[in-house]
This record gives sequence, structure tokens and C-alpha cells, in this order.
Amino acid sequence: MRTDSEFGSFFLPGPTEVRKEVLAAMLKPMIPHRSTEFEELFGRLQVGLRSVFLTSRPVFIAASSGTGMMEAAVRAVPPGRILSLVNGAFSERFAHIAEMCSRDVDRYEVPWGSVHSADELDSRLSKGGYRAITVVQSETSTGALNDVRRLSDVAHSRGALCLIDSVSGLGGAELRFDDWKLDYVLTGSQKALALPPGLAFAVASAELVELASQVEGRGVYFDIVEMDRFASKNQTPATPAFSLMYALEVQLEAIAREGIENRWERHEEMLDRTTSWLIESSRQTGIAWENIVEEGNRSPTVSTIRLPEGMSGKPFVARVKENGIQVATGYGKLGDTTFRIGHMGDHNVSTLERCFAACERAAAG
Ligand code: PLP
Repeated sequence: MRTDSEFGSFFLPGPTEVRKEVLAAMLKPMIPHRSTEFEELFGRLQVGLRSVFLTSRPVFIAASSGTGMMEAAVRAVPPGRILSLVNGAFSERFAHIAEMCSRDVDRYEVPWGSVHSADELDSRLSKGGYRAITVVQSETSTGALNDVRRLSDVAHSRGALCLIDSVSGLGGAELRFDDWKLDYVLTGSQKALALPPGLAFAVASAELVELASQVEGRGVYFDIVEMDRFASKNQTPATPAFSLMYALEVQLEAIAREGIENRWERHEEMLDRTTSWLIESSRQTGIAWENIVEEGNRSPTVSTIRLPEGMSGKPFVARVKENGIQVATGYGKLGDTTFRIGHMGDHNVSTLERCFAACERAAAG
């Protein structure tokens, strides 16, 4: 078992490394969920979560993984076609969920590692008839970062809602729900928020909740109208995952102490250091590795790095592990040729240096 002094060995792009203090909070006893004690806990969590999403809206807390709140988003959209912006595995999942919820879906696809163009989106939406777009801010399968603020503005100018997956973005990449006038943003606990998996969070604008209330067949568990109704009473519709909420409370206190803008800055520093390390390391060791995403489009939370010819994903990651550090293989079709570093959550430039050193040792054989 890892101890605090060993923090800084687990660099998956989710789940991410969780501090011992956060894990320990889960040992607290249960409480009745229809109680003042729970409502007070929920109220405290709202304060912390609102300052992460930068919103005055309620933040829904679901006992689910992020995928659940993707489905909740789709189920809230009034009838009409959905345009899914696809640039990797998770944005494809969003499109798939919409299809499996019987929605009429078109895809605006760009190659894995690329981001979406606001102009091209505008042109596609101008053909009319779209009720919503789905988009992923930080595409964890590649490390590409979409400009969700611009894409959302374009969607709105064409009368479409914008549903944003920020599962590996929120808490690490800049996002301002109220200032950017967003409709819906979802995330999961196990990424840049550095909590155990099992909670998903989402914010919906008042307008979206109102629109959703007219939608038939929204289901029950992932109905944002019910979530909104219960959140206004500091409650959840079904039994909450207390233990994870205790952990969340401790982590939100730490995030508040750091300040959300400082947290974004720390993530930017980790991305910058990853970029400079790749350049220095290639020069010094002769290992030809590079980020698959163009500079300027990179997520501050995850990097996908192309391995030199002759080196393959799984054995490389296994060798890094022998050096005491866990990184991830590339996702899906990138599995053989790349690996991924999750530089998110409670990591910083100095824990990251240990990861780089282990990667270099592994590459040296
Ligand atoms: N969206 C993105 C960008 C993700 O990275 C993930 C998981 O890695 C998901 C959605 C799905 O989240 P979950 O596995 O929590 O359901």
C-alpha cells in the first residue's frame, strides 16, 4: 500500500492518485440521508463545488461514473437532431449514448488528436435543424483540448444547446460555467478532482432544466429535473454515496485553499513541463518521442506521447511500472504506438519529474 510519502507514483489519466487524507475521510460512519445532518453536508459540498464550476447554479451529485451524467445530458434535450463533435473515444461515446437514447445523431468528426473548428461548426449548424451539440473539452483518449467556450457560443448563435463533457477537464482546465453562459457541463470524481471513482457531477442552466421538464421519456435515475428539484432542498433523489461525499468534502476544502485559478495554473505548468521535457529528453537521450497533439491544442491534464519506432505501448508501460511509476497505454487504436501521462489532480511539476525519469529509464531498456 502506498503511503503519503510515496505520493507521486500513479499517473493514469483517470483514476488519478488520491491523497491519504482524502481516502481516510471515507472511514466516517453513515448518517440518515433524509436528515438535517445530510442536508448540511450537501450544502457545504455545494459551496465548494460551485466554486469549482464557477456557478451559482446547483451542482448535481450523482452516485455514478461520468457516463451516467452524459446520458442525463442527452435525456434532457428537447426533440430534434443532435450534432456530436467527435475527436476521440469519449466524444464518440457521447454520440453513441445519444443514438442509444433513440436520438437522431450526426457527427462532425476530426482525426484523433485534433480539435474542432468554430467556423466549421458554424457552417454545419447553419444547415439548420440541430437542437443540441455534444462536445468533449479534454479528450482523454488523445489529450486534445477543445475551446468549449467558443464552440458553445457558436451553438447558441445557431439556436442549439451545448452539452459539455469535462470529465478530464474540470478542476484542471479553465472552465467558467456562469461567465461563459454554458448550458450543461458534466465531470467525474476520478480525474482532475483527484477523488476515488464513483461520483459524477453536473451543472445545468435554469433554461435547460425548464426545457427538460417538457421532454417526455427522460427516465428516472438520470433525470436532471428531479436532480434539480432535490438539489434545491439540499437532497439527492436516491440514496447518496456518503463515503465518497466525505472524501469530496475534504478535497473541496483543499481545492478552496489552493484556489481554482491557481489549480488551473499548476496544471498549465505541468503541461508546459511535459512539453519541455519531451524536447530536452529527445535531444539528450536520442529517444524520438513527441506529443501527438499540436502545441496550442493540448489539454493541461493529459498528454499522449508517441513512442519511438520499435517500442510498443504495453511492454513500455510495464517497464515504467518496474521503475515504480504507473502511466497508461495509449487508448484504443493508439494503444500500440503511444502512452499517456495523466498530469492532473494533486500532482505537480516535482512529482512529474519522477514520472519522466522512470519513462526515460524504461525507454533505455
Ligand atoms: N468522458 C471522458 C473525457 C473521459 O475521460 C471518461 C473516462 O475516462 C468518460 C467520459 C467516461 O467516464 P466514466 O468512466 O467515469 O463513466
